[in-house]
Amino acid sequence: MLKELKILKSHGSQYVKNLRAQPVSPIFMGRPVISGFLSCEEREMLCKLCPVKAIHCESGSLDLGKCIFCRECSFALPGKIKFTNDYRIAVNRREDLIVHPDSENPLRLDETHIRREIRRVFRGTLKLRQVSAGGDNSCEMELAATGNVNFDFGRHGVEFVASPRHADGIVITGPGSENMSEALQICYDAIPEPKIIILAGTDAISGGLFTGSPALKRKFIEDHNIDLYVPGNPCHPLTFINGVMDLLGIA
Ligand code: SF4
Repeated sequence: MLKELKILKSHGSQYVKNLRAQPVSPIFMGRPVISGFLSCEEREMLCKLCPVKAIHCESGSLDLGKCIFCRECSFALPGKIKFTNDYRIAVNRREDLIVHPDSENPLRLDETHIRREIRRVFRGTLKLRQVSAGGDNSCEMELAATGNVNFDFGRHGVEFVASPRHADGIVITGPGSENMSEALQICYDAIPEPKIIILAGTDAISGGLFTGSPALKRKFIEDHNIDLYVPGNPCHPLTFINGVMDLLGIA
């Protein structure tokens, strides 16, 4: 018994008290900051270098919905592109995932774009069904972590459930494989109204490295209104948690 208590003491307290302000490792890659002094040659070089075409050739802006966080751009121009460890990068408008040069603005949800019924119905309890549409289990593991004893997202009533019939929304991970296309629709149809859709991870938002693959069929994602985009490759549990808290209006 004494041995077990010693082990527990050595672990310390791992419970995240404040989900809004939990410090993360300085090497974590979150919101990028791009210099406003990129030359034409540098923009062109970055545009060619980025494996997923996340950097715009003319403006030098960086699309977090496409970025796979490989860090190649910041290795190439360490003084001009850096990734901060700001994990609060979830937004509710796709265009807000584009980070422009010389901008240090935090990424936040557009309050005017949040459907009124979301806060009215789901604040205090939100059950989500997670569907992996060709995912590699990385985002899926991070989402599962949101419910562990450290993050304990259940403290705000947000939990993942096994059946869409018990859910209020669908969280999609993976690039959207053709084989899962119909399954996404079936799952969505089984969720009662009102219902929300969240895309978690770069693959779900844009297809990521698999963009253009004939194995993808992203019609479901393209045809539906998306309530929350959670970037990351994979997305960090705190990015997902803070995005959902913003969506629900939890302080
Ligand atoms: S970190 Fe993102 S933007 Fe930079 S090269 Fe990699 S994928 Fe492209």
